[in-house]
This record gives sequence, C-alpha cells and structure tokens, in this order.
Amino acid sequence: MAHGDSTLTRTFSYPDDLARLWGPAAPRDRPLRVLGLFAHPDDEVFCVGGTIARAAAAGAETAIVSLTRGEAGQIRDSATATRRTLGATRVEELGAAGAALGVGGVRCLDLGDGYLARMPYADLVAQVRPILEEYAPDVVVTFGEDGGFGHPDHIMSARAVLTARAQLARPPRVLQARFPPQGQLLLDLLVDWLVSEKLRFVGTAGFGNALRLFADGSSVLGFAADHLQVQWFPVGSYVIEQGEPPNELFCILSGTVEIVVEDADGGLRTVDTAGPGEFVGQDGLATNRPRNAHVIARDDTTCFVLAPGARDLSAGRGTTAVAAGTGGPRPAPAPVGSANEVTVDVSAALDEKIAALVAHRTQYALDAELLPRQVLGPLLSSEHFTVID
Ligand SMILES: [Zn+2]
Repeated sequence: MAHGDSTLTRTFSYPDDLARLWGPAAPRDRPLRVLGLFAHPDDEVFCVGGTIARAAAAGAETAIVSLTRGEAGQIRDSATATRRTLGATRVEELGAAGAALGVGGVRCLDLGDGYLARMPYADLVAQVRPILEEYAPDVVVTFGEDGGFGHPDHIMSARAVLTARAQLARPPRVLQARFPPQGQLLLDLLVDWLVSEKLRFVGTAGFGNALRLFADGSSVLGFAADHLQVQWFPVGSYVIEQGEPPNELFCILSGTVEIVVEDADGGLRTVDTAGPGEFVGQDGLATNRPRNAHVIARDDTTCFVLAPGARDLSAGRGTTAVAAGTGGPRPAPAPVGSANEVTVDVSAALDEKIAALVAHRTQYALDAELLPRQVLGPLLSSEHFTVID
C-alpha cells in the first residue's frame, strides 16, 4: 500500500548503540550528519572506520576531512610512492578508503603534515571553524586529548575542533576516539589460528613484513599488548632450544631454519625445515609445554618475534625446565569506562574497515586476505569514544 506523503513523515532512526552515540544530537526529521575530522589520511580508519561505515549504511550523511595530506608519513612500500609523491598518493588513498567505508565525501586540506602543532593556534582554529560551518555536522569525530598515541598533529587537531566548536551557534556533539589498552595478545590469536589450520600455514617474506607492520600499529594503538621485536640469528645459532619454556612466537622474515629433535641418548634428527613467511613456536605456546625440538638457523636468519612481555632471562633450559606460563604476567583486561564513554561493536563493518586499511597502501602494505577474520576480528571490532556535548 503506497502513501504519497510517506517521505514527508519519514523519521530517521539508528541501531541502539549508534543512537546512544549520537544521543540528542540526532535529528529525527532528516539524516544525521557525521563528520570525521583528523590530521592525516588513515587516522579515520582506526578512530571511526567501522562506526562511520555503519552510520553510512544506516542512512547518515558522512564525510571525512584530513587537515593535511600526510606527506611526512612513512613509506612502508617503496613501490607505492616516493617522498615527492607521497602527499598526492595519500590523498588518493583517503579517497579509496572513504569509498570502501561508504562515506559520502572526503577532503584533504594541505596545512602541512607535522605543522599543526607549530602553526599559530588561532590560525589552526580559523581553518577548522569554516569546515564545521560548511558541513554543519550534528556529530564530529576526532582524536582525544592524548592524540591516540601522542602525535602532536592529532592532539592539536582535536583541540582545535573543541575551540572552533565552542564558537558556533549550534555546537555539534564531539566524539573523541579512545584507544584503551585491550589486554589481548595478537600472539594468542595467531597461535589459535595456526594450530586450528589443517595444513601448516606457509606465507611469504611479504606476509612476514605486513604482519610486522600490522602488529606494530596494533600495539601502538593498544589493540594488542604484545612485546614485539625483530631478532637476527647467525647461521648455526638456536632460534629455539629444545626444553626451554614456550614464551615467543617466531615468524621467519628471511633465512631458513631446521627443526631438530634431540633424543634421550643425545642423537639429533632433523624433522623439518621452515623459511620466510612461516611460523615456528606455535605448538609449544598452544600446549604450554617445554619446547619439543630445537630450531636452528641454517642460514643467517631474521625473525619477527611476538611475546607476552619482555624476555625472562632467568628461565631454565634443558629437560628439567618447567614451563612457568608464557612469558610472565599477562596484561590486565581493559578497565570499565565511565558514563560518557561509549563502545561500538563494528564487527558488522569489519570487511569495510579492513578494505579501508588496505586502501592506505603506503602505510600498511596489507593485503585484505593477509590474516583470517578470527585474528583480525577481535583486534578491530570495537571502537571507543568519549562523548562531549
Ligand atoms: Zn595520524
């Protein structure tokens, strides 16, 4: 049954958790307007990627503005950009990420990556205010006072949003992205995945490097609490010694290792080899029993190493060693937030969020199929905000 005037009386509503996030800022007679305002292309993904994708899917009008082109960022893959082209490339990447998230529009200003904290504060506010006036958002998402992990551009853009907003006749609600330490370990997720695979996982050297970059970003933002390092093992040295407690997971970046079992009579049997993109050490971590074989570098070997904490130098080795748990105390679980803190489950938008991450090729060198959802899901499925009215 058709009603000719149904569009006139249409009301807009959002899933419960999003409605709580918008609060009274959400109008009922038109789509909500959500603006993500950040310092660099790629800030949007971890801060609000899943939430803004869900908002767009629910009918909100969405936009992302970056105050800089991110030209001072790292270039993780030399094939993607040069120092001269990085800014233009990252503008394109933001466009692709916005499309992946279903965001209505993206824009990059060119205030200078690394300069937001150095330019006169009034000038920065004078840049931010017209953006708020033009987009007239009901809700603005930006960083918190800590800038996520202390980047001065993040801190100053977040501060400028608050100052500019206070100058408006109708100030929008501000959502500050928070990154509370989650206390989970990428190590545990990887071990669960690896031992659940029927066939041994074999990656590539590129896989190892992408994993390293992803793990690094995850630990910086508190999604994972692993202790990360790259270790070099000269030819003939032990990566793992049979009998030692299982503390670390190794992903081989270069070189080859032999898996050697030492029998009770001291005889040595080489049972396997592993090379770039392959893991060693997952079985001991899964069972929490002393290492059941040596892993010996057959060439000079480099490994990306994940551990729950710094290495325990007093751990005993040999057949009498007792597994004392993996690497000392595990990180504490995330603290419960206060009343103005809202957490959004974005697992329904995980594919979009991963696609946006992949779009930022110069920063993450990731492949959408790099890691299975069972590993990525727990790390990327929650977004946390502090609400400021
Ligand atoms: Zn940034």
